[in-house]
Amino acid sequence: MRSHDKAYSRHYNLYNRHANRVKDKQDKFYHSKQWQSLRQLVLTKQHYCCQYCLLHDRVTQTKIVDHRVPITFDLKKVDDVTNLDVICPKCHYLKDKFEAKYYGSAQGFSKNNVPELTEIKLIDYYMNHLDQIPK
Ligand SMILES: [Zn+2]
Repeated sequence: MRSHDKAYSRHYNLYNRHANRVKDKQDKFYHSKQWQSLRQLVLTKQHYCCQYCLLHDRVTQTKIVDHRVPITFDLKKVDDVTNLDVICPKCHYLKDKFEAKYYGSAQGFSKNNVPELTEIKLIDYYMNHLDQIPK
């Protein structure tokens, strides 16, 4: 093995170990009482309606609660109720694609150095116009 391969493999292993630790932390959180009660609060407050569908005058009932700014990008927002939205599977799928491109999220990480997008209308716009996401 050449030395830069070794360095790469070492970096890769460290990266994976760190990613697994972050993932463990996230898994624990999603099984906690704190998350269950936060999630229920948001579902009740938003009437189980997908907040992204509502922007298009569609009423879609669902039980998924999503972090508007992904916690892989900003872990401080993990229990921030203003960062939580009800989202249907179809919008969630689009939002994942947006996040992968904008935040560069993968394997429990976000690597792009970009400002947080907190405006739901803007996020929704980019979800539906992936080609217009700023680089
Ligand atoms: Zn939706």
